Amino acid sequence: MNMQYYSLNNPSIRADFKAATLAGQAPDGGLYFPETIPVWEKTFIDNLAILSKAEIGMRILQPFVGDSMSEATLLEAMEETLAFDFPLKKINENMFILELFHGPTLAFKDLGARFLSRCMGAFANDIGQKINILVATSGDTGGAVADAFHGVAGTEVFILYPSGKVSPVQEKQLTTYGDNIHAFEVEGDFDDCQRMVKQAFQDQELMKKAMLTSSNSINIARWLSQQVYYALALAQWKEDAAPVISVPSGNFGNLCAGLTAWQSGLPVKHFIAACNANNSFTAYIRSGIFQPKPSIATLSNAMDVGLPSNFIRILELFQQEHRNMTKIISSESISDKETVDTLQDVFHAYHYLLDPHSAVAYKALANHLQQHQAQKGILLGTAHPIKFPDVVKKAIGNTPETPLSVQNLWEREKKSIILPPDFQLFKKNLENFLKIS
Ligand SMILES: *Cc1c(COP(=O)(O)O)cnc(C)c1O
Repeated sequence: MNMQYYSLNNPSIRADFKAATLAGQAPDGGLYFPETIPVWEKTFIDNLAILSKAEIGMRILQPFVGDSMSEATLLEAMEETLAFDFPLKKINENMFILELFHGPTLAFKDLGARFLSRCMGAFANDIGQKINILVATSGDTGGAVADAFHGVAGTEVFILYPSGKVSPVQEKQLTTYGDNIHAFEVEGDFDDCQRMVKQAFQDQELMKKAMLTSSNSINIARWLSQQVYYALALAQWKEDAAPVISVPSGNFGNLCAGLTAWQSGLPVKHFIAACNANNSFTAYIRSGIFQPKPSIATLSNAMDVGLPSNFIRILELFQQEHRNMTKIISSESISDKETVDTLQDVFHAYHYLLDPHSAVAYKALANHLQQHQAQKGILLGTAHPIKFPDVVKKAIGNTPETPLSVQNLWEREKKSIILPPDFQLFKKNLENFLKIS
């Protein structure tokens, strides 16, 4: 069986896993969506606790990947993708946190980026051609991509970031890998970086000479691989009834993965889309009317998204039926003040330090459990608190200890090419690297 993916703009545009992953999005600009959602065998669900992480990953991804990778290649990709811990920790009697921040860049995006990099590496080998990945980043995504692709044979990564507008830790994560990771420091803002990447994809001359692709969060390899940690949560779940799961949400790739796993049979009682002041999804769940808004800056800034890119995929999962969606999903919008208060309260009451994104999810879950006292829940911890020292300091008066991996960053040498926000100059530099000019 070989799963086909169709464009959400036009169902007659189709691709298999390899083509859809390599392209990122459909030629008409649409997001790819699988033609069916696989149903998991009951024995698989019953045996989650005794299967290895890689085996769980394998079983979940295999139907989506189909013939695009051999079983051995997929298993190896899964072993490398999941090479860190995903512990489920108890915060209090009714609330647990799935810590998704033990990967190299201390945030949950590591998993999706690592799986994507292994797919690209395998496909580069198949087609006998180097794959060049262009990324514009405002900080975090670039770091996860740099780490994930570093040393993956057959791939070259070109990262554009706005000079002076990323944090010192983020800049180190973008500029110190070397080898197949190249950093362009653009004297402009994030929008300039994004515009230069878009222009490259529209440049016929460039596109003809080299295999250029993106690694952004709408790529199916990133979305679909995120299902795996939902199963890893259930593998560690020892309570009687199925959990409520609260997901800190921005572009909704994370929640969309959880819903996909649930449609395949993962036992989940209810999902909470936990949002900050960027609440277009919360308003949609409550009213049935979707009205994207310009994004608002908040303390949980990785969730500052006005028009969530995966909203259209969530609609497709529920056949555009708002009624079906609200049976399983509710949503809350949490203010910055509530975020800081929650971080502080949870630290003092339970000696657990949340990051601002996880604090949003905690608060939304706590509100839900107050209304449903027999239920228990899991919140997804999407980042390590050390990544947001200012907010943590504001809430508890001091900053957490720096993990070793971040300490080592300071000793690494920064290497970047400084550029004005000019596409032709960027193109020249890129061609130099590609040696195709
Ligand atoms: C990206 C990110 C989110 C939002 O995830 P989506 O899949 O875009 O909804 C939440 N928390 C952190 C720390 C993130 O980096």
